[in-house]
Amino acid sequence: MKHMYINDQWVEASSRATKEIINPFNQKVIETVSRGSREDTKMAIQAARTAFDEGEWGSLTATERGNLLFQVSQKIKEYQQELAKLESLNTGKTVTESLADMDGIAGVFQYYAGLADKDGGLMIESPNPNSVSRVVREPVGVCSLIAPWNYPLLQASWKLAPALAAGNTVILKPAEITPLTSIKMYEIFEEVGFPKGVVNLVLGPGSTVGSELAENPKVDLISFTGGAVAGRQIMKAASGNFKKISMELGGKNPNIVFADADFDTAVDYALNAVFFHAGQVCSAGARLILEKSIHDRFVEAVVERTKQIKIGNGFDKDTQMGPVISAEHLASVEDYIQMGIQEGATLVLGGKRPNAPELQKGFFIEPTIFTNCHTKMYIVQEESFGPVLTIETFESEEEAIRLANDSVYGLAGAVWTSDMNRAERVVRKLRMGTTWINDYHPYFPQAPWGGYKQSGIGRELSHIGIEEYTEIKHIYMNTNPEPMNWFKKVKEKTELIEL
Ligand code: NAD
Repeated sequence: MKHMYINDQWVEASSRATKEIINPFNQKVIETVSRGSREDTKMAIQAARTAFDEGEWGSLTATERGNLLFQVSQKIKEYQQELAKLESLNTGKTVTESLADMDGIAGVFQYYAGLADKDGGLMIESPNPNSVSRVVREPVGVCSLIAPWNYPLLQASWKLAPALAAGNTVILKPAEITPLTSIKMYEIFEEVGFPKGVVNLVLGPGSTVGSELAENPKVDLISFTGGAVAGRQIMKAASGNFKKISMELGGKNPNIVFADADFDTAVDYALNAVFFHAGQVCSAGARLILEKSIHDRFVEAVVERTKQIKIGNGFDKDTQMGPVISAEHLASVEDYIQMGIQEGATLVLGGKRPNAPELQKGFFIEPTIFTNCHTKMYIVQEESFGPVLTIETFESEEEAIRLANDSVYGLAGAVWTSDMNRAERVVRKLRMGTTWINDYHPYFPQAPWGGYKQSGIGRELSHIGIEEYTEIKHIYMNTNPEPMNWFKKVKEKTELIEL
C-alpha cells in the first residue's frame, strides 16, 4: 500500500479511500494506493504555501538547490532498473522504452541542476547616470503540476526539475491510473532531503484533486500536460486568481515524405513515428503525408514492416509494442477506427484486437493503417492516441505544407527529403513547436518542447522551460540619492508658462 507525500510525511487519504493500480498487460493488481480528496489537496497546497513563504527553502542558494537536484539525478540512475520495471508494469510499455525514459529523466534533473545557478540576472541601461538598474528572476511561488499517464514520470520530471531549480515549492498530481513511479520519485526526494513542505505528492482523480489544484487561490502557477478537455477546464478554474499557466496538449502530427527521401530510412522511421509506445505519444507521427509518386511502393513497405511488429508483454525481450493503457482507452481507439471506416478511409491493416490467446487479458489493439485519407476526415484531424496511422498524398511542396498545417494542433512534424533547401523551406512554414528534418522523435533537455495553436501554451525543457517558473523583477538603485524637490520645480515651471 502506497500513500501521498504531504509536508514531509507519507499520509493516507483522510477518507481512507484507496485505488487499485493495474497492469494493462493482464489486468492484475500491482499496487493499492491512497485516493486523495479536495481536503487532502488543500493540506498539500497549504504545506507548499508555508514552505514557500516561511520555510528554509527560500534561504537556500541557487547552487544548493542545484546540488539537491544533482543528487536526485544520481539516485534515478541508481534506481533505474526498479523505476523502469515499475513504469513498464504500470503502463505496459516495453522495458527498453522505460529504461530510455529513466535515462531521459536523470538527464532532465542533471540539466536543471546545472542551470539552477546560471542566471545571474541582467544589467540594463538606465537613463539616469546616478543609478544601477538590473533585472532578476525569482520563483513564482506554489506550483501545481499535473501529469498524464503516457509518460508518467518523464512528463512529471519535465515540470519538477525546472520548478525546483527555480526555487518554487510544488504539488505533483500524476494521472490516477499511473502513480507508481511518481511515488518512487518522492521516496528519492525523501532520501535526498528537501526542506519540509517543498515537494508534495497528491493522488486521485482530476475532477476533485486536479480541479482543486487548478482552482485554489493559494497556488500561483499551474503546469498541465494532458488532453484538450481537461486543459480547458483547468484554464477556466485557474482564472480565479490569474494563475500563470503552462499547457502541453495533444497533437496530430504530420510526417511528410518527398520522393527524393532515402526510401528505406523514411519507411523505418514512419513506423517508429507512429507505433512507438502503441501510439500513445503526444508527438506521434500519426499523419503520414506521402508524395504521390512514391505512395504505392511506400505504403506496401510500411504495411509489410508493420505486420512484423511483435505485440506482447513489455517484459518479454521480443516484444516491440505493448498494450494501450486501459479498457476505456482501448474502447476509444476502437471507436476511432470505426469512425475512419465510416468516413470512407481504406483500412489496409489491423483495426482489431489481436487473436493470440496470451493477449486476451491485455488492452491490445493491432497496429492499424488507413489509406485514402484527407483533411476533412475526423481521423486526420483528431488524435487517436493509439497505434493508428492515416495516410494522405500530395503533389507539390505547397500542397504538402498546406495539408500539414490544416490542423488545430501544432505540436510537432517532420519532413523527409534529400534536398536541404527544400527541407529548410518546408520546416520554416510548418506551424509547429518542434520540427525534424530526416528524423522523427528526438527530444532532449537542452531543446524547448511545446506546441503552437491548440497544442499548448508555453514551453518545457531548455533554458526557456525554467523561465516559465519565474517572475521577473526590475531592481532600480539610486546611487546618489538627494532631494528632488519635484513640487518646487513644478511651481517654478508652471510660473514660466503663460496660461
Ligand atoms: P487527461 O487530460 O485526461 O489527464 C491528464 C491529467 O489531468 C491527469 O492527471 C488527470 O487526472 C488530470 N485531469 C483531468 N481532468 C482534470 C480537471 N478537470 N482538472 C484538473 N486535472 C484534471 O490526459 P491523459 O489522457 O492522461 O493524456 C493524454 C493526453 O495528453 C493526450 O491528448 C496527449 O496528446 C496529451 N499529452 C501531451 C503532451 C505534450 O507534451 N504536449 C505529452 C503527453 C501527453
